[in-house]
Amino acid sequence: MPSRFDVVIVGLGAMGSAVACHLSRRGERVLGLDRFAPPHALGSSHGQTRIIREAYFEHPIYVPLVQRAYELWSALERETGRTLFRETGGLMIGKPDGAVVAGARRSAKEHSLTHEVFSAAEVRARFPALQPTDEMLAVWEPRAGILFPEICVEAHLTMARTQGADLRSDEPVLSWEVDGDGVRVLTAKGGYRARQLVLTAGSWIHSLLGDMKLPLSVERQVQLWFEPKHRVPFQPERCPIHIWEHEPGRFFYGFPDLGGGVKVARHHEGEMVDPDFVNREVLPEEVEAMRTLVRQFLPDAEGSLRSAAVCMYTNAPDGHFFIDRHPAHPRVLIASPCSGHGFKFSSVIGEVMADLLTEGQTRFDLSLFRNRFR
Ligand SMILES: Cc1cc2nc3c(=O)[nH]c(=O)nc-3n(C[C@H](O)[C@H](O)[C@H](O)COP(=O)(O)OP(=O)(O)OC[C@H]3O[C@@H](n4cnc5c(N)ncnc54)[C@H](O)[C@@H]3O)c2cc1C
Repeated sequence: MPSRFDVVIVGLGAMGSAVACHLSRRGERVLGLDRFAPPHALGSSHGQTRIIREAYFEHPIYVPLVQRAYELWSALERETGRTLFRETGGLMIGKPDGAVVAGARRSAKEHSLTHEVFSAAEVRARFPALQPTDEMLAVWEPRAGILFPEICVEAHLTMARTQGADLRSDEPVLSWEVDGDGVRVLTAKGGYRARQLVLTAGSWIHSLLGDMKLPLSVERQVQLWFEPKHRVPFQPERCPIHIWEHEPGRFFYGFPDLGGGVKVARHHEGEMVDPDFVNREVLPEEVEAMRTLVRQFLPDAEGSLRSAAVCMYTNAPDGHFFIDRHPAHPRVLIASPCSGHGFKFSSVIGEVMADLLTEGQTRFDLSLFRNRFR
């Protein structure tokens, strides 16, 4: 007879670790399974830093969620004694009518967020590391900053274990099926039964959806760290996180130097890949493409390449998340495809999923994230 749990979670990265933490806190009997040993560098949650920001240019619906995420990250810091977050402020930079600037202003206005709008000359004077061109504007938000993703995942897993969750690494889930009043899960090592199942398998979600078809794509993304030519302008006290729409619909972002160089990356424009066969080597032309942007907008960062890492986005066609029940099997909940901007929300997505699993509802508006691909 396979072991019986309240909930089995498949995938213990950003989302799954948070679900495990919030569910086990409520006294649920949780089994979490991962094919690797999280936090690891093979999925979507590695690379030392992730941006968190509040004036959300993608849509104002994200603002209440990110505000709750801030509260939960800070509670997790207190509970675990780990530093998960560093506030630096943030600049959303681009043409006034572009998606980044106009979107950030819309969210700031709708939610009465503290913010300022700087001209390009003001940005260059206040933050000399950043050199926008004259036709650009920047939306400044003081609460933006950096999450440390590997430590965040580890903190959620630690809390979950402390609260009684059974978390197992190196145990890939091969299949699942609904069975009477529950779900049966088959792994490489055994079988388990649970009342409900959570699929948070990130870029591998496709392999676990059964006959459900979702139009998701997995995109290879490259993170690069350059040695700055001048260190001082990139110190975290002087350099906020920054997101650029350098051409209409084309984006890159960067961080201050936390000691390992200036991290920069393009947002999208990566190759669509199979997550089991992704090339983890960074190509010279990828470094060169990034250098071209660095040379123009962050010229003091264009020293030698210090390090690089390949990561994966799991994209929905509209760039939003997917959080919903499996259409044929309501005992199965899915939360993972986050279109390259989900990390900051993982704490609140853990809480939302725990609400859905234990109470059947959440106070947050998830309308943008429901299954819209039927
Ligand atoms: C380069 C890059 C930069 C990003 N920058 C930001 C940012 O600045 N801010 C932000 O908010 N977001 C950012 N994101 C997005 C964010 O990091 C992701 O949305 C988030 O990490 C996804 O979490 P996840 O739990 O879905 O996936 P993961 O953390 O990858 O977790 C999925 C887990 O499922 C496991 N798994 C898969 N298949 C199975 C199976 N069959 N059985 C068992 N386990 C399985 C995997 O091993 C993995 O541990 C970025 C992403 C990338 C790649």
